[in-house]
Amino acid sequence: MPVTEYGIVVNLDTCIGCRACQVACKVWNGLKAEETSFNPQGYTNPPDLTPNTWMIMQFLEGVEDGEPFWLFKKHQCLHCSEAPCAKACPVNAIEVHPEGAVVIRSDRCIGCRYCIEACPYNVPRYDPKTNKVYKCTLCIDRIQNGLQPACVEACPTDALEFGPWRELVEKYRAAGYEVYGDHVNDYVGHTHYLYVTRKYRSLGAKQGKKWYEVLGLPADPRGRLPGVQLGREVGVGLAALAALGAVAHAVYWRAKRMEKRSGSKGG
Ligand code: SF4
Ligand code: SF4
Repeated sequence: MPVTEYGIVVNLDTCIGCRACQVACKVWNGLKAEETSFNPQGYTNPPDLTPNTWMIMQFLEGVEDGEPFWLFKKHQCLHCSEAPCAKACPVNAIEVHPEGAVVIRSDRCIGCRYCIEACPYNVPRYDPKTNKVYKCTLCIDRIQNGLQPACVEACPTDALEFGPWRELVEKYRAAGYEVYGDHVNDYVGHTHYLYVTRKYRSLGAKQGKKWYEVLGLPADPRGRLPGVQLGREVGVGLAALAALGAVAHAVYWRAKRMEKRSGSKGG
């Protein structure tokens, strides 16, 4: 039976910024609490993602048409269909599941951080204590057991909706929502997190920006690597070097053995 491709809608119009999703993510994934402190940048706390905080609610404030706005954006891995992080990983430590989840396998991660450079949404976080990189898993463990992701389950206003990706896109488009993620660009493909709004659709228009750009979601996202294949190329290069090394080693020992044999024959 074909596996269903899933998505999660983040509805900016109905999110109340309660952070139930942020807490649920911590609880389900058994992630340590962060020491929080006053954040002069605003109410986002902890102020950024960390190896132990895989999603945060970002509190965005500003003024538009003389009116202040305050909105909440759930920030985590967007689970890109083209997964540039996975393409950049030289040891295939990032798996792309048919359900849509892009998941780092800790047992394979070597801490090279190419995925961080490849990610245009600034998501994976490196932990020097473990020499590994961490991020949201889309709760693939729950999805594969017939459950919704923990954040979706916890949301009291149904601002988060989990379901078959295509159906979600069609449903929100038909209802007149703006959708970010149904097709972004060739670098990320589409994203399995979909941001939607009707209320904030003209946000940023006066500055010539799209609403999603105000939210920090670029129109044409690119990573900081010259090409996402770099990791693989380095990986292939290393593998080729290793193979050459193995051949040289074998030739050396064969020559040595021959030398020894001819020596023992002569003596
Ligand atoms: S590139 Fe970034 S946002 Fe996209 S799947 Fe990888 S970590 Fe997630
Ligand atoms: S649980 Fe729902 S309403 Fe609360 S912050 Fe998360 S997305 Fe927003």
